[in-house]
Amino acid sequence: MFTRRIRKKGPTVKESREFVHGAESFPYQLIRTDRRSTAIQIDPVGQVIVRAPHRLSKAHLEKILSEKAQWIISKRQFVEEQSLSKRAEEWPVLGELLSVQKGQGSNFSTSVDAFHVPVSWTQEKVCDCLNSYSKKKALSYLPLAYERCLERAGTLYPDILSTKPYLRLRKMKRSWGNCRGKRITLNTELYKYAPHLIDYVIYHELAHLIHANHGKGFYALQALLYPNWKSAKRELHQASVQYTQLYYSSQPKAI
Ligand SMILES: [Zn+2]
Repeated sequence: MFTRRIRKKGPTVKESREFVHGAESFPYQLIRTDRRSTAIQIDPVGQVIVRAPHRLSKAHLEKILSEKAQWIISKRQFVEEQSLSKRAEEWPVLGELLSVQKGQGSNFSTSVDAFHVPVSWTQEKVCDCLNSYSKKKALSYLPLAYERCLERAGTLYPDILSTKPYLRLRKMKRSWGNCRGKRITLNTELYKYAPHLIDYVIYHELAHLIHANHGKGFYALQALLYPNWKSAKRELHQASVQYTQLYYSSQPKAI
């Protein structure tokens, strides 16, 4: 038989901080929860996450961080080096990872399932080249996807068409897309993700033409336009964590 002591739970509080250790420093996310001990974790992209009890004082926390600082700094360095070695061996195109092959040629070229780059190129140069390739492709792919979704949304909810929205495309660091008044902006980074995830972002923004905020009405309309929005949201987040780790691209979180 199990007995459980009931404890009153406090709210989870998150904040971003910076820890300075001699000549070195690192940013960390502090998450205060209803726990008894402090735990430090380095995530796959090298971010430091510290989970601590609500009652832990600032001085005590800094003492724990000083004791662990050397370990944190070297672990972060290791994670970053690992990402660097994986970087640009594959490149995502509409959710599929294509291989990046280095050869004797002097130019960048593409074939059905691979990219070809000169062996003399640095990883930074390969990434820059593939990023501008993705952006160029996004500029032709996204307007077509947008028109297709807009037409379908108009048959399901005709008021969307009467708002006469227009599309803008740009590379964004923090969001996949946004909707301001009649203007919908989509992030060109989306070209790296699977078509159904791009559709999800487009339908999300189309629903904002009618409901500006994330209220009940908004979610009902989003579910009408894209019934599987919950799993798409999860999938988009998971893919973005993986891609950020491999390619140091930005990891937008909001739509
Ligand atoms: Zn939104």
